[in-house]
Amino acid sequence: MLILYPYSPKDAFAAESDIYEKRMALFKKTEAISQIPWYYFAAMDNYERNIQKEDNDQLISISFDPEIWFGPGNSLMIQDEKIITFFQGKGKDGNGDNKADPGNPEDILHTMANMILEYGPSRDDIRIALWNFYQRDLSVQTIMNTAKVFKKFKDINLTDRDFPVSMKYNYSYNNTWGDRRGFGGLRIHEGTDIFASYGTPVKSTTYGVVELMGWNLYGGWRIGIRDIYNIYHYYAHMNGYSEDLKVGQVVKPGDVLGSVGSTGYGPPGTSGKFPPHLHYGMYKDNGHSEWSFDPYPYLKKWERMAR
Ligand SMILES: [Zn+2]
Repeated sequence: MLILYPYSPKDAFAAESDIYEKRMALFKKTEAISQIPWYYFAAMDNYERNIQKEDNDQLISISFDPEIWFGPGNSLMIQDEKIITFFQGKGKDGNGDNKADPGNPEDILHTMANMILEYGPSRDDIRIALWNFYQRDLSVQTIMNTAKVFKKFKDINLTDRDFPVSMKYNYSYNNTWGDRRGFGGLRIHEGTDIFASYGTPVKSTTYGVVELMGWNLYGGWRIGIRDIYNIYHYYAHMNGYSEDLKVGQVVKPGDVLGSVGSTGYGPPGTSGKFPPHLHYGMYKDNGHSEWSFDPYPYLKKWERMAR
């Protein structure tokens, strides 16, 4: 028998905001029990969702190695918490059904909270716990950054975007991703060049944290922002930075980072070796490595959204 459900984009939107509310309720509940702030669980969950290859609509995306959850000797994967503990597994029962189920959202979060509390509840303790869990600096950094963003905006459903140069000024851009570059040997152009006059405001496209600022031989005065989707946004050849902007600062779409220039291709301060433009690049981290991808389709989309 075929059942047809009435379905509209409005329903899809309602379902989506619903999942964010359910997640937030679980994070807050885990905070109430563990005293670990909700945004750390939210950031870990977000990180895990964004390293997965395929989109999923799981409530919670944090996952555990079965050996860590059940314990090395618990080969039958018995979900009884006492047996798991006997076998030195970490799995805990969070929803009170007397099972520690690695597929249950509350059990997952409760287990994660317990693992963190082995180190302690402070920010530094959490950083150490994360390092021991992931054994990778970039994973820890991304999660700590995302937690900072969630904390500041008190929300996990942050979907706004902006175009990286002010649309009140004249600008133009084409898809030049993958073009060859002469300076500095054979390099492939990893980004999109947006041509605009000196001084045109450069804006953050996304929610994130400033990860890097300063001079680079090719990029001139550049800035790197790590967003909440494991993506690094790279802005180069700028004239300068906004006053007070610093590494570690949380930014949102539309925040002015500085202005368009033509810096780079030489020692610090070199400028004017090419027409003024913003070089904008995007790099995705999959939990193992980072690679460049074409920002052009995203720029087109954000330009439409910002109009
Ligand atoms: Zn470029």
